[in-house]
Amino acid sequence: MATPLRGVGVSPGVAVGPVALMGGEVPEPPAGGAAGLDAAAELHAAKAALEAVAGELETRGRAAGGDVQDVLEAQAMMVRDPSLDDQVETLTGQGRSAARAVWEAFTVYRDVLAGAGEYMAARVADLDDLRGRTVARLLGVPVPGVPHPGHPYVLVARDLAPADTAVLDATSVLGFVTEEGGPTSHTAILAKSLAVPAVVGCAGATGLADGTRVIVDGGTGEVRVDPSEAEVRAAQARVAARLAARGQATGPGATADGQPVSLLANIGGPADAPGAVGAGAEGVGLFRTEFLFLDRTDPPTIDEQREAYQAVFDAFPAGAKVVVRTLDAGADKPLAFLDLGGEPNPALGQRGLRAVRRVPEVLADQLEAVGTAAAASGADVWVMAPMVASADEAAWFRAQARRQPIGKAGVMIEIPAAALRAGAVLAEVDFVSIGTNDLAQYTFAADRLVSELASFQDPWQPALLELVARVGEAGRDSGKPVGVCGEAAGDPLLALVLVGLGVTSLSMAPGSLADVRLLLGRHTMADCRRLARLALEASEAGAARRRVREAASGVDELGL
Ligand code: PEP
Ligand code: MG
Repeated sequence: MATPLRGVGVSPGVAVGPVALMGGEVPEPPAGGAAGLDAAAELHAAKAALEAVAGELETRGRAAGGDVQDVLEAQAMMVRDPSLDDQVETLTGQGRSAARAVWEAFTVYRDVLAGAGEYMAARVADLDDLRGRTVARLLGVPVPGVPHPGHPYVLVARDLAPADTAVLDATSVLGFVTEEGGPTSHTAILAKSLAVPAVVGCAGATGLADGTRVIVDGGTGEVRVDPSEAEVRAAQARVAARLAARGQATGPGATADGQPVSLLANIGGPADAPGAVGAGAEGVGLFRTEFLFLDRTDPPTIDEQREAYQAVFDAFPAGAKVVVRTLDAGADKPLAFLDLGGEPNPALGQRGLRAVRRVPEVLADQLEAVGTAAAASGADVWVMAPMVASADEAAWFRAQARRQPIGKAGVMIEIPAAALRAGAVLAEVDFVSIGTNDLAQYTFAADRLVSELASFQDPWQPALLELVARVGEAGRDSGKPVGVCGEAAGDPLLALVLVGLGVTSLSMAPGSLADVRLLLGRHTMADCRRLARLALEASEAGAARRRVREAASGVDELGL
């Protein structure tokens, strides 16, 4: 067995399976004829590769059915186009290698399409993809983009972009390993939503050969390469244990000694609500309303907002809590209709509540839409403002929210100043919810969008936990709820620590709910406080994670 690779575990559980590498860009085969090439053999190889690509597309299409099948069959036809074949024959006849001939033939085809009107020009990207697939086969390098090996696999990539994950066949991915990325990377978010293990920041992962068997431990961050049969059996037992345990995890969240901790879902719109209900969410702890309007150039009307909010409220059983976050614009989520302009440093600019304070009518309309939808629904609707820096801002927001029939008004704690003055902030509002993603960004002065700084986003960092502790203490003193709705809440071990620090509800990607519920039910409040102390006293994030993992109970037994 080779030395294990190490990264950061960002989605718990264990996966065992063969590696399938995400292919990068395919290199352009060298131009010019190479001496000694057998034209007939090159033509044969090129035709075989084209046919293999067409056949693979058809097989995938049949498996997917519907629109996907139509698209993939159309692509297979492009690969089988006789004029492409003719070009390849001419080029191999002129002494080009099979790979070079395919490359050039697709390039000719591509240039014709690019000049043939808007619809045809849109097919150019398809052709580039097909050229990459065929040439990769001929050169023996990984096919670009998401692999489709035809069996369950562990996806290994440098990093994953949203466009990659959109075409991923989620049913055959056993786990993820990426060289780059951090706890809030796209890979981490996707893995949690699929409830499969993931390790990110794992140096050396892309050096693994396709088909290598690995054990991915999304809890410890370890990736075992070529494990022994005994190790595979032990890992498979953990996979089975987790599956069985997740099936039993139902009902409201609570510690082993019966202290309720609401387990809620993070959603971006009505389309996410059924999944959250199905995963056992007790309600919604973060409804990111800006996701509904990212492509808008004029502000959404009250009516269309009301309709979207009502659809979410009605998706949950009567009495369920739904926390609506007012528009969180700026930095990574520019909303064109707010006209934030160019800023030298958008993460420190007009963001969240600051951005809507410049156009108070946008906030007033949104609160009216939430209030009207709340009055017509059975949900327990709360509203909160993002990126609040001070008690004054919290008081201003509360005054706006109070004009509507909305159960409770609160604010997010995402700026260190608000965490440090949590008592004063809580004096102005009914509740707070800690956004650990932004709180980490601002505590460590590390842009959450810069992947080289991803380690600063690790929510296990004791400095971040100290701020959470401060907010938890203010919550206890005031008797008001303190939630967490950043990525931290979906890490089952960290969830114990957060509860020990005084957090009363946890909101996360629905895929994380079962693991969090299970582990919470195995620990008393006293256990959670003890684990919180261990994390706070650790020297750094990795040590905090290790100490808590060792001291918590049932982690291996639950396959986490
Ligand atoms: C956060 O910052 O932790 C949070 C939940 O808000 P968002 O990720 O939407 O910025
Ligand atoms: Mg935030």
